[in-house]
Amino acid sequence: MVKHQIQTIACCKMKNILLPIIIITSLLFQGCSLAPKWYRGNTHAHTVICGHADSSPEVVASWYHDHGYNFLILSEHNHFIDPDSVGMPPEKRQDYILIPGEEISGPQIVHTTAMNIGGLVTSNKKLEKKSEILQNHVDVTLAAGGNTILNHPNYVYTVSADDILPVKRLYLFELFNGHPYVNNAGDDEHPSTETLWDDLLTKGMIIYGVSSDDAHHFSEIDTQYSNPGRGWVMVKTTKLSPGKISKAMQQGLFYASNGVMLKRYSRSKRRYLIEVDLDKTLKELDSPDIHGKRISTGEPGFFIEFIGPGGEILSVSKSPKASYAVNHSAAYVRGKITFRRKHQDGGMEEFYAWGQPVFTDGRTKYEETLADRGDEP
Ligand SMILES: [Zn+2]
Ligand SMILES: [Zn+2]
Repeated sequence: MVKHQIQTIACCKMKNILLPIIIITSLLFQGCSLAPKWYRGNTHAHTVICGHADSSPEVVASWYHDHGYNFLILSEHNHFIDPDSVGMPPEKRQDYILIPGEEISGPQIVHTTAMNIGGLVTSNKKLEKKSEILQNHVDVTLAAGGNTILNHPNYVYTVSADDILPVKRLYLFELFNGHPYVNNAGDDEHPSTETLWDDLLTKGMIIYGVSSDDAHHFSEIDTQYSNPGRGWVMVKTTKLSPGKISKAMQQGLFYASNGVMLKRYSRSKRRYLIEVDLDKTLKELDSPDIHGKRISTGEPGFFIEFIGPGGEILSVSKSPKASYAVNHSAAYVRGKITFRRKHQDGGMEEFYAWGQPVFTDGRTKYEETLADRGDEP
């Protein structure tokens, strides 16, 4: 009798221990993953609604679905496209979503993507100073529950560091925009967007670099058109939802790419680790329609740079895998991966992945200013 009681008590204790383990394990197997995953997305695309693009919202949404993306923002100029109004492919994957958004297109070509908003966001059109226009975009987007990406600052060089630096609660900008009229690389008189980024970071801003298509043309593919598939982000979150993606991007939990894919990417205040995914990168660059930045000289292959204040290169490795012991004497460190290859015409071209900065100087992020609409539609 006593032996039986002891066995029963032991059995109950085992159940108490095992039950939570069983629940957690079954949740994981049900796809309710607690571990973060990588999701690929484009935050900037246009449709016929704007009057200067060639495809319907359905065609645009299908293009990204069919090319393996996980999320897309149909970012129309001052027009909200309700994701629920967009017809999806009949065999739509479960891991593909539209994030509600809009390209707020203000005076003086100050454009921003308002991501994860609940409806049309209207900005103040009477403002004249670019920093005030931009601040207004950030504020009206936050009020609508969304977050802001400053778009194409180098398009006709309309937005400079001086315009951006006074703006509060802005954490994202387009480091790369795939539209052929956008001057990502700068010119003799204007900095590249990457130099602009280092300027902002060096002067104390917390701002992360996005890569996007700004796609307008889906029916004809050529270097003169703004085609899809030229710039994207890889975002790490525990769940694919508008709220999770938007919040992860605000926190810098992503890398930007215009061709290079990564196998490993982690950054902390102690160590920055990068490993290129060679197979995925070569697969991305297999298309004859993808074009890199043209350069005159250089050896083909990968190299990884770790970059600090003022754009100073702190370390460079010619290996597809590199890590950097973050030195607290540099206020920030960011990783950049370059893949250089010969173009079909014999010249050289480069493609990149851009890691986000790690800050070591105590600048903190004001979490309370982050909009978080959660997973509301
Ligand atoms: Zn624009
Ligand atoms: Zn646009």
